[in-house]
Amino acid sequence: MLDLLLTGGSCPDFEAGQLRRMNVGIEKGKIVYLGEEEPEAARRIDAAGKVVSPGFIDIHMHEENFTDEGKQYIIAELMLKMGVTTACGGNCGIQNQPVGEFRRVIEELGGSPVNYVMLAGYNQMRYELGLGHKEPLPDEKRGELKKLLQRELAAGAAGISFGIEYDPGITFADMQQALELLQGDSRYLAAAHFREADSGAISSVEEMIRLAETTGVRFQISHLISCSGFGQMKKSLELIKESASSSPLVRYDTYPSNAFATYIGSEVFEDESLAQWCRDISKIMLTEEPYKNVYCTKELLDKARKEYPQMLAVGFIMNEEEVSMAIAAKYGMIGSDGILNRGNGHPRAAGTFPRVLGKYVREEKALSLMEALQKITLDPAERLSLDGKGRIAEGADADITVFDPDVIIDGASYDDIYIQSEGIDYVIVGGRIAMDHKQVVDARAGRFIPFTPMGN
Ligand SMILES: [Zn+2]
Repeated sequence: MLDLLLTGGSCPDFEAGQLRRMNVGIEKGKIVYLGEEEPEAARRIDAAGKVVSPGFIDIHMHEENFTDEGKQYIIAELMLKMGVTTACGGNCGIQNQPVGEFRRVIEELGGSPVNYVMLAGYNQMRYELGLGHKEPLPDEKRGELKKLLQRELAAGAAGISFGIEYDPGITFADMQQALELLQGDSRYLAAAHFREADSGAISSVEEMIRLAETTGVRFQISHLISCSGFGQMKKSLELIKESASSSPLVRYDTYPSNAFATYIGSEVFEDESLAQWCRDISKIMLTEEPYKNVYCTKELLDKARKEYPQMLAVGFIMNEEEVSMAIAAKYGMIGSDGILNRGNGHPRAAGTFPRVLGKYVREEKALSLMEALQKITLDPAERLSLDGKGRIAEGADADITVFDPDVIIDGASYDDIYIQSEGIDYVIVGGRIAMDHKQVVDARAGRFIPFTPMGN
């Protein structure tokens, strides 16, 4: 007997490019039945009129900080509530703890709300060696840095990420050298947060494409909107298309918002960087008390940098029409860049996927439902070499999100990121119902997914 049967829903068939009505049977964490019959099941869910989608995969996010914030899930629970079943942490060069430690805590807690994949953060390894943001990597430390990256890969990281903007001391040659560690296995992924936004966007995109093409490593350009959403999107997408149409190496992700979010203490807000990208300081908003939702003056910005360097600041500075361009274009995926500090931050951490499906698909028709589903399920699964995920197929992992395409929309706002999205009926992780109509009923169905190099 099946554990669970979903009846009457429509499942994406990416080969055929359309939704197909099928009943979906689940047993022991796998999809074992697809068809029109109704085999016996311990539990049945009526999914008529709903989309039965592979669980959403967030290719660009930031994992929990178990070190400073305790062993609790805040971000991951928000992920689950917006339909995510697997998320990739360790982006932008930053890790909140070593991969081995992260994995150990998840196991200690008996699982996690969503499945996790991790990248090794290159910047984090530089910090471990005590290097400053602008400091070049001294030759005598290259060996040590390599060892740290190897430690993270051995612990199960699926690749390496860079946050070039945060540490301008990182050179092209440094990154090339780091990526040598991934060259033995074409399934590894590299990702980078650009070197410089706005006026530096085109040269940043070119640098990342060159890095992919010279190393031959699969390369994800991170949150393109915050790099090129200042008038450089069209040209950036053309450059990406030129590379991507002839090779599988370069792809990108983006979030559905015209506002970026990052730590107020970061390099980005140093006078020199600030002058490059920010034309209007009053468009930067702080996200925590005593300055929650207060817009900046230069004085306040400097004060907050000193007093609360870990506070997140949000900048409403990108162009809205470039947001939809980035979401809709071929070769792009969606990542929430879900980043919070003590539960505060940008609402994209709580509403990214419903927002894409509600605002950009249904309301604005910037892309079709099938295109969007592919960008949030199949494409990131292939990118992260998650063979069992991203499809509704017999034998696939039973990670499933059931939603109403006529209703789904994000609810989170800058005032309250905990307002839940509408229109998601069920989220199933590894065959277990994890969310049932806005109620999290099982927050431990996810696990850490270690990358297994070829030959192991
Ligand atoms: Zn970033």
